[in-house]
Amino acid sequence: MPKLEIEQFLCLSDNYGVLIHDPEAGVTAAIDAPDAKTILAQLEAKGWTLTHLFVTHHHGDHTGGNLALKEATGCTIYGPAAEAERIPGIDVEVTDGDVIRFGDFDVKVIETPGHTIGHIAYWIPDAKVAFVGDTLFALGAGRVFEGTAEVMWRSLQKLMRLPPDTEIYCGHEYTQANARFALTLEPDNLALVNRAKEVDLLRDQGKPTLPTRLDRELETNPFLRPNVTAIRAKLGMLYAPDWHVFAAIRERKNKS
Ligand code: ZN
Ligand code: FE
Repeated sequence: MPKLEIEQFLCLSDNYGVLIHDPEAGVTAAIDAPDAKTILAQLEAKGWTLTHLFVTHHHGDHTGGNLALKEATGCTIYGPAAEAERIPGIDVEVTDGDVIRFGDFDVKVIETPGHTIGHIAYWIPDAKVAFVGDTLFALGAGRVFEGTAEVMWRSLQKLMRLPPDTEIYCGHEYTQANARFALTLEPDNLALVNRAKEVDLLRDQGKPTLPTRLDRELETNPFLRPNVTAIRAKLGMLYAPDWHVFAAIRERKNKS
């Protein structure tokens, strides 16, 4: 199986930039473009040439570097068709189920609306990795700006059905605050308690808490656990549909 090299680094204040590189084919992609300068410096340090830019959604902290990267490298910019007019420099508009060839890898497009109406995730099954932008975070989920809670919940369920050993790269380092909030809902979840300690330790050392893995999220991320009795009891929603519970969790986090 071909090997995919992945480089993750902070951009702006809490955004992550990610570069993926297929050494056999000599292609390199950036996932989102929070900051062209930082991304170009990383490319330079690795000796990689940017060929692709995979955009998850139109927000400025994910597309602000698009035009500068395109001008500097001539890369091809991929992004969601549903918000193409809001994505600077877009060359290829993609929709759910599209497959992008990247060197020896297939990159599958999954539409995950909710944070924005056209938000997409990129999944590379052969590398067991998914880039989920601002839909799913470690111990958290994106704010629902353009969709409804029900739409967002459906999007998260799509990601929950990926293979459990999928490595998840997210758009932001929000994990420590997310852990605090998660503990208010599930103080007795031992996996969560342990993970929160681990997150504190990593942050104390200035290390990233990402990527995460889907199976860990399923065990500890309250936004993926609206079916859990302890959470439902905490919210006084024992018999509500999952998406109502999800919406209540999102509301609570917004106010926290
Ligand atoms: Zn965003
Ligand atoms: Fe963002």
